[in-house]
Amino acid sequence: MAWRQFAQSARDQGRRVGLVPTMGALHDGHLSLVRRARHNGDVVVLTSFVNPRQFSDPRDLAKYPHAPEADAALAAATGVDAFVTPTLREMWPDYPAPTLTTVSVTELGDRLEGETRPGHFDGVASVVAKLFTVTGPCRAYFGQKDYQQLVVVRRMVSDLAFDVEVVGCVTQRAVDGLALSSRNARLSAQGLTAATSLSRALHAARDSHVVASGRRTLMRDVMRSAGVDVAYADVVDVLTLQPLSDEDRGVGRALVAGVVEGVRLIDNEEIDLSVSGG
Ligand code: AMP
Repeated sequence: MAWRQFAQSARDQGRRVGLVPTMGALHDGHLSLVRRARHNGDVVVLTSFVNPRQFSDPRDLAKYPHAPEADAALAAATGVDAFVTPTLREMWPDYPAPTLTTVSVTELGDRLEGETRPGHFDGVASVVAKLFTVTGPCRAYFGQKDYQQLVVVRRMVSDLAFDVEVVGCVTQRAVDGLALSSRNARLSAQGLTAATSLSRALHAARDSHVVASGRRTLMRDVMRSAGVDVAYADVVDVLTLQPLSDEDRGVGRALVAGVVEGVRLIDNEEIDLSVSGG
């Protein structure tokens, strides 16, 4: 894994390394992480690896978009210093047999996405741990788009004492509010319209002044009426991801997930419950 030496020589020259882990099919959401790393003056290492261990559904893995040439061009144009595409052999030599070593962030990884995608966050935490180990001390950039992933990674870094500063970056959206995602490429024009209901649901919840349970219902209603098959619509504690009660008045996070045209989509938004009633 040649980027181990690349990152070490950058540190030897007194530079900080900025790691941007992705699964490729790059879009402006990914590139916003690169821009943030460049803004911080980091030597940017962007990894592109479709990690099979974080897909619980093999059909989802088979359909995951790939665009290696376009990715390399976009990475170069955005000023990535090392565009790295680790091979399956390098990352998971035993695959498809299970690896003997797995990183599991229990509780945080079991809720929400973890409920319908068993083992998903074990796959995420294990691959991110390996990327961190190979890269060495660095800043690592993750999108708030995958909020639960960000919380899981932060917790893993803290529990396992990785020498990594995790930087959470704001979600990049299309003008209609839809969070940019590699999966959007699989949606028809009609599907894209339905998909905007996720961000509309979150905005409705953010702007309403009802208690947590009322905001959950509101989000479900907005998504359902757009024809989305709702997986969850929750308002949770920002760190523990436990559901907030109707008595809670602090800042929480609303997270939604739903299926449109067979494509699973997620989004989230900060929620201020301090002015809740009713
Ligand atoms: P992925 O390739 O989907 O695994 O995403 C790689 C990284 O890009 C993760 O840290 C994501 O949270 C982040 N990311 C994906 N979509 C967006 C977006 N719309 N805005 C900001 N970050 C994003």
